[in-house]
Amino acid sequence: MKFCNRFISFVFIAISFLFLLIFMSSRVALAEVRIVTSVPDFAAIAQEIGADKVEIKSIAKGYQDPHFVDAKPIFVRDLNRADLLIYQGLDLELGWLPVLITGSRNSKITSLSSPGRLDASTSISNILEVPTTRVDRSMGDIHSFGNPHYTLDPRNGILVARGIAARLMQIDPENSTFYEENYKDFSRRLNEKIKEWDRELAPYKGTEVVTYHKSWIYFTNWAGFKEVGWIEPKPGIPPSPSHVANLIKNMVLMNVKLVIAESYYPQKTARIIAEKTGSVFLVLPSSVGATEEISTYIDLFDTIVSEITIALKKINKVDSA
Ligand SMILES: [Zn+2]
Repeated sequence: MKFCNRFISFVFIAISFLFLLIFMSSRVALAEVRIVTSVPDFAAIAQEIGADKVEIKSIAKGYQDPHFVDAKPIFVRDLNRADLLIYQGLDLELGWLPVLITGSRNSKITSLSSPGRLDASTSISNILEVPTTRVDRSMGDIHSFGNPHYTLDPRNGILVARGIAARLMQIDPENSTFYEENYKDFSRRLNEKIKEWDRELAPYKGTEVVTYHKSWIYFTNWAGFKEVGWIEPKPGIPPSPSHVANLIKNMVLMNVKLVIAESYYPQKTARIIAEKTGSVFLVLPSSVGATEEISTYIDLFDTIVSEITIALKKINKVDSA
């Protein structure tokens, strides 16, 4: 009986040890690539590519103005542990990201040439509005190297995804096939959706719009809309009363019927402009996480395209009545 008990204890300990070994080895195999992104669109795209092989945090939230983010100490800690930092570049994050990177003291991301540092704008082939003369940022103009809002053209989402996949394959070569397959799957799904959005937007080509900030130029370029004015006289510079008065005059002359702004811009001025010109004022999300419902990059464009086409349908109905 005693021998039997001892044998059972031995078997129990042996099985426990075996389970412990399996658990430990699986933990080693499941070590995740720690990614920090400046803005949530990159987090959403990196999640599509990295799935369970990555752990991702975004510094800015989708409802925040990405030009001006509070550089909280907690972000320094996240960056200190990061294997990969993905950011928009073109100076979008100039006011807050460099100080966080320096504070992180993480050699994987402090050097511009490190594989752990990915400026996503380097994946984009067609950066719009690159200034031909020197732009003085001290004057408030915050698009000094060209327009940084390239993720608002969904075709650029595919280029960004390709850049992220390539970098993950470099950092974590063991899972290369996994990242490549996920990239192919994501680009296939996004391409399908782009065709669908193209069809929905097609009847509205040539629509003239006014936007608050120059953040929609990639979207309007893709959709075939025409931007005819901006509430900010220059990117990052608040409107003066005379600028607003001129804008209203021009909008009435041109019969512009659509004003677009993100929720973090002052709504009052945009509403007054819409009221005085008889146009529709649309508050649109410009990033994943702008609202609770938008949790993927595809969700973002589903929402934008749906809200714009609903508004334009109404505008065209009124105009033709
Ligand atoms: Zn901007």
